[in-house]
Amino acid sequence: MDQLERMLNLSEPERAAVEKIQSRLPVGITPYFMSLVSRDDPQEALRRTVVPTAAEFITTPEEADDPLGEDSMSPVPGLVHRYPDRVLLLVLDFCSTYCRYCTRSRVVGHGAIYPSRSRLERAIEYIRSTPAVRDVLISGGDPLTLNDERIGWLLSQLRAIPHVEILRIGTKVPAVLPQRITPNLVRVLRRYHPLWMSLHFTHPSECTPEATRACERLANAGIPLGSQTVLLKGINDNVATMTALCHQLLRMRVRPYYIYQCDPITGSSHFRTAVESGLDIIRGLRGHTSGYAVPTYVIDAPGGGGKIPLMPNYVEGREGDMLLLRNYCDRQYRYPDVIGS
Ligand SMILES: *Cc1c(COP(=O)(O)O)cnc(C)c1O
Repeated sequence: MDQLERMLNLSEPERAAVEKIQSRLPVGITPYFMSLVSRDDPQEALRRTVVPTAAEFITTPEEADDPLGEDSMSPVPGLVHRYPDRVLLLVLDFCSTYCRYCTRSRVVGHGAIYPSRSRLERAIEYIRSTPAVRDVLISGGDPLTLNDERIGWLLSQLRAIPHVEILRIGTKVPAVLPQRITPNLVRVLRRYHPLWMSLHFTHPSECTPEATRACERLANAGIPLGSQTVLLKGINDNVATMTALCHQLLRMRVRPYYIYQCDPITGSSHFRTAVESGLDIIRGLRGHTSGYAVPTYVIDAPGGGGKIPLMPNYVEGREGDMLLLRNYCDRQYRYPDVIGS
């Protein structure tokens, strides 16, 4: 509280939340990210993503601590195997900055998922003995908060498994701690190609010269970069903000990958939007700007169904063999489909 008060003029709901936070998702903000946050405006976008507020303590009936059922699809601690050919490896539960809408707030920041060698070796052993796994997504917490040697050890272990074709790292470090993307880290990472990275950018204000430099170093090391963005009410849930973000990302050599509908995680009601606002964003992007700037809008299905893509309806029906289509300018077109071939 003392530190926050030195840097921000806290509102009453923010102060109440910080006092109450105790064993819940901790508050953590890097000095760099704090420098981007508004000192006086509690409604400013980046401030809302990292400073808790009293609404976090409201729980609605549809919310759950683990809506995606990750814990029930975990063959070994800290490893989620939901899809046939890829796994999610939760390396640790620590982040340098905690997003208030975190989908993994049930575990993140609690010291429950520890990057011990023995636990990671069990997870690696599961992957080694499961030949169907050709893609390993290394996430957490934020894996890039580990030191370079640990990261190199983990990547080398996974790379040594013949059936693991690609490695991926999920991280918000380029947005919240871009100084961590050092030349030495990049030298370690580039040894383990094909290595892909999913970054987490939420708002165009995060696309600073520092973040741009971090992404440039990663891209120059041959790492394809994607960004995952959570749709957040009053933060990025309109066409103008999302277009600005996607354009900035392309300039930073980051391909917008997913827009996520916000999961019904406990205490998230002040962040969640109507699905229609997500569809409006896709409608406002597709055709109006570079295809590379248009991410896939998905709902990660509660109950563990995985990511389900949502699209505005461009197919209006049929007239005999003719498919009736609607384009981005709302005009109708007909395509002679091949029936029964
Ligand atoms: C999102 C996710 C993946 C990766 O999905 P892609 O669509 O391939 O990016 C893998 N495992 C789990 C459990 C996930 O939630």
